[in-house]
Amino acid sequence: MLTYQGKGVYGAVAIGKISVFKRQDVQVRREKIEDTEGELKRLEAAKAAAIEQLGEIYEKALKEVGEANAAIFEIHMMMVEDEDYNDAITEMITSQNVNAEYAVAITGDNFAEMFAAMDDAYMQARSADVRDISNRIIHCLTSSGSEEETSDEPFIICADDLAPSETVSLDKERVLAFVTAHGSSNSHTAILARNMNIPAIIGVGEEFLTAIKDGDTAVVNGFTGEFILNPDTATIAAAEKKRAEEQEKKELLQKLKGKENITLDGRKINIYANIGSVDNIGAVLLNDAGGIGLFRSEFLYLENSDYPTEDEQFKIYKRVLESMAGKKVIIRTLDIGADKQCDYFHMPKEENPALGIRAIRLCLNRPEIFRTQLRALYRASAFGNLGIMFPMIANVWELEEILDLCESVKAELTKDGIEYAEDTELGIMIETPAAALISDRLAPMVDFFSVGTNDLTQYTLACDRQNPEIDRFCDTHHEAVLRLIGMAADNAHKHGKWIGICGELAADTSLTEAFLRMGIDELSVSPSFVLKVRDIVRNIDLSEKK
Ligand code: PEP
Ligand code: MG
Repeated sequence: MLTYQGKGVYGAVAIGKISVFKRQDVQVRREKIEDTEGELKRLEAAKAAAIEQLGEIYEKALKEVGEANAAIFEIHMMMVEDEDYNDAITEMITSQNVNAEYAVAITGDNFAEMFAAMDDAYMQARSADVRDISNRIIHCLTSSGSEEETSDEPFIICADDLAPSETVSLDKERVLAFVTAHGSSNSHTAILARNMNIPAIIGVGEEFLTAIKDGDTAVVNGFTGEFILNPDTATIAAAEKKRAEEQEKKELLQKLKGKENITLDGRKINIYANIGSVDNIGAVLLNDAGGIGLFRSEFLYLENSDYPTEDEQFKIYKRVLESMAGKKVIIRTLDIGADKQCDYFHMPKEENPALGIRAIRLCLNRPEIFRTQLRALYRASAFGNLGIMFPMIANVWELEEILDLCESVKAELTKDGIEYAEDTELGIMIETPAAALISDRLAPMVDFFSVGTNDLTQYTLACDRQNPEIDRFCDTHHEAVLRLIGMAADNAHKHGKWIGICGELAADTSLTEAFLRMGIDELSVSPSFVLKVRDIVRNIDLSEKK
């Protein structure tokens, strides 16, 4: 049994036999051509055939993965016609008297390398797209046949890499999973895998290719990114158990998808999802969440080796908002410090970091960082239904400073002629006992509250949430914690504001009814808990006296 670690791009488990993906790689040789006109005609015919094939793939993708994801093949069609790309090929054929295959292969490599060298991760991922279209044109020039292996048994596809068109051409009925040695989670291949609901792992590394062979058994764990070759019986049993649990969840999903979050007596609530990255949006949509209740924006900073620029942040926030197509997206401003440390922030060493320069304190102490994020957020607000939320509030004056900063950022954008949504909701996290206790003063200043029960428990009970030794003292059901939540809910409603919970307790179904009785309007949970909570809500009757 051998275990390889890659990056899971779609969370599901598969067990089955391996089929090593064989591409009919064409050996491209440089040949001297006298009739360059004739060669250009061959090239045109091959391009026309490539476009026709891409049109067919686009239609297949449209049916299987929807318009947004099929769009990549429209882009491929455009790339085949791209002026710079074509000029480079034509120039090579005419000036060097070389065959079309060779000119396409060299130009494709050059363009792919140019994309790969770019700073932007999205542009880097386009490198695979250029290679894909170049290979397609070469195949058309040599008119080689099918690219896929055929077999009736379902299998786990293992490959060095898969091009988007190869991914979408896979017969979903027969593919249990796919695993690649290379690839990036930003690539369209990964995006397509998520949308096709195929368990997938990318970036397992070159070595796995030499270890595998057709017919070997493997376990693919798309949750953890683990690829287990020739698993023992205990590993297979554990994987089968996990797969059965997933199947059960899927059935629940089918039953509850599209249904309202409504109690038996007619009270509706919002069930949103918590995310830490754009990559989680597939899971949010798959689990039918009504919106995003907490986007922990600090992961963007933690994944970087330097401060993310306004533009980098803007692109990501915009993408999240556009993907959610008008549904609420609450982005929490930077919550760095305590357990989330970032080297390039050069934070001083603190005795008690959880009580130190953390979250809003860092942002107010270093307003240049905060302003950059606020500008990016407001710019993105024009592209969806944004709410901005501030963490670790304990004082009225903090909120006053924040609101002043927001006004000044908006004024700056107006002056620069940049659009933003004036009705962007502003909210705060209730995660310090102080915020809950003065929630009557804070409520008139914001549009909503969201309770961070993880920190509210830590700070109320004076229990370090990172310390497993004191787990039994860290009682999230403690009466003090629940009373503080109830107090914040009452104060929010007195001022006509809504209140949600986005800490882990929101998914604790033993408390769902208690939360609804307190008047909680929204619960934001990990994507995979959305339907479980919906199921519970739909079975609660608040008209029964308790
Ligand atoms: C919380 O404290 O409950 C919360 C949601 O924030 P985080 O877990 O990111 O501190
Ligand atoms: Mg918190």
